[in-house]
Amino acid sequence: MDKPITAKIKVCLLGDGAVGKTSLIRRFVDDIFNDDYLLTIGTKATKKKLIIKKTNPKREYHLTLMIWDIMGQNSFRKILHPIYLKGAKGAMLVCDLTRRETLDHLIDWIDSLNVEGRSIPSVFVANKSDLTDQHVFELAELEKVASANDSPFYTTSAKTGENVERAFSALGKNLIEDIIINKSLGSPAERPKSSESAIASNYNY
Ligand code: GDP
Ligand code: MG
Repeated sequence: MDKPITAKIKVCLLGDGAVGKTSLIRRFVDDIFNDDYLLTIGTKATKKKLIIKKTNPKREYHLTLMIWDIMGQNSFRKILHPIYLKGAKGAMLVCDLTRRETLDHLIDWIDSLNVEGRSIPSVFVANKSDLTDQHVFELAELEKVASANDSPFYTTSAKTGENVERAFSALGKNLIEDIIINKSLGSPAERPKSSESAIASNYNY
């Protein structure tokens, strides 16, 4: 088999505050969950390797995802957006099954998927699937938003781990398709520069 193709790729998580962005990253990267609300200050990038095997032609892709987390407070979005999304090759849009407005707000985030003149691959996620008795919308409603954007969609739980790996892998697969179609590995994902910052302070609420 040919040598694996390696690529370092920046992806961003987008969505309102407290939908579970930080928890999804922690579940995916470290396989842990805790109930504290971690208020992410500024942005933070976490590294995770993802291996994707493709058949026809048979090829392995070793992706190093640089997963960027952001605080979701509306007031900061507009200021942080351009910096946060600079160089991003993919995004995970997250809403919360227990709060309807977080689904409605995904529309606002979709505009940000146009990075440097082109639409980047994305995956849509409705999180907190474990809180079954508190759900206020159905997967079909997320499907409407995701399909309009030609993107895969999942219900996930950062708490139980349900579909978390699957959602990130779906994003990884779409990133590869994008790489193949655009015949480029793109520029290496940028690490946060000190000025833009890894001011990665987490506070327990
Ligand atoms: P962020 O602001 O989007 O980064 O959200 P956090 O990851 O900090 O999560 C906000 C709150 O929701 C925290 O109290 C988490 O423990 C909780 N939470 C996150 N994901 C889940 C989940 O899948 N199920 C449940 N029950 N709680 C979750
Ligand atoms: Mg957070």
